[in-house]
Amino acid sequence: MNAGLAQRNPEASSTRGVMAERPDVGKLSVRNVGKIYDPEGAAVVAVEDCDVEVEAGDFVAIVGPSGCGKSTLMNAIAGFDTITSGEIMLDGVPLASPQLAPRPGPDRVVVFQHGALFPWKTVLENVTYGPMVQGKLSADEARIKAMGLLGECGGLDRVADTYPPQLSSGMQRRVEIVRALMNDPSILLLDEPFRAMDTVSKTTMHRHLLQMYRLCRRTIIFITHDLEEAVFLADKVMIMTSRPGTMKKSLDITLPRPRATDMLTSEEFRELKLQLSATVHEEAKKAFVRGEREQA
Ligand code: ADP
Repeated sequence: MNAGLAQRNPEASSTRGVMAERPDVGKLSVRNVGKIYDPEGAAVVAVEDCDVEVEAGDFVAIVGPSGCGKSTLMNAIAGFDTITSGEIMLDGVPLASPQLAPRPGPDRVVVFQHGALFPWKTVLENVTYGPMVQGKLSADEARIKAMGLLGECGGLDRVADTYPPQLSSGMQRRVEIVRALMNDPSILLLDEPFRAMDTVSKTTMHRHLLQMYRLCRRTIIFITHDLEEAVFLADKVMIMTSRPGTMKKSLDITLPRPRATDMLTSEEFRELKLQLSATVHEEAKKAFVRGEREQA
């Protein structure tokens, strides 16, 4: 156990493999949400009557074909864009509605497929910047917490003084996850973070993400078009229809935690995947027929 993390983060002193307790923040409700782009012109109905309920501390994966509105939904939750109907609430507080201006905040942190680290700052400077600028932590506190979390995320403390362009894309993505968690967000939003990676790199990333989830237990919304990844990581998988995106099917993932790669070949895993795959392929086919690139 990294002593720094144990000091700063009581969750980290839990026994390896034991899940941190459910947090008391991070309950998300997406109710009847709709989004029409360019309503006065082309009127692209991207999302329609979309409902998602996520309990605080749960890991939910949203799967759907390209162009079905996954990023639109994510941007609305993150507060980057407006919605045209419905309502999004976080812990009972309205985050988004047609009457509300978009409002991003440190309670919702997004990690994208393409990195967003400052290339001119070291790894340590990148991850300590947010809480220090917000005045949440002193420089010393931020450094101790950062070194602890970096160490737990596959030994990234060893590259604390390195600049991001010198790291592999997988390491950069892990640094971003640590940076996001440094802010103690209520929700971590992951928008296809491992999309461009090969299978081996993805597997490594899954292991590190699950370790960070186990230690820091935040609500996670994970967007992907990879059904296997979704079933392996999440507590619940939701399948979105092709555009206009709405939730078509939801399945609780009963695989125990901690998840291990040998579960990928288990009968239970195969059965869970089977329950979802027909819906995923049906929606992918619809998206393909309407001329959008098939991704699922
Ligand atoms: P996904 O993330 O599932 O690939 P998006 O949320 O990016 O899908 O997009 C959903 C639909 O909305 C797509 O058909 C896309 O072309 C359209 N769209 C996204 N952004 C805009 C925009 N700014 N203006 C008009 N249409 C958009």
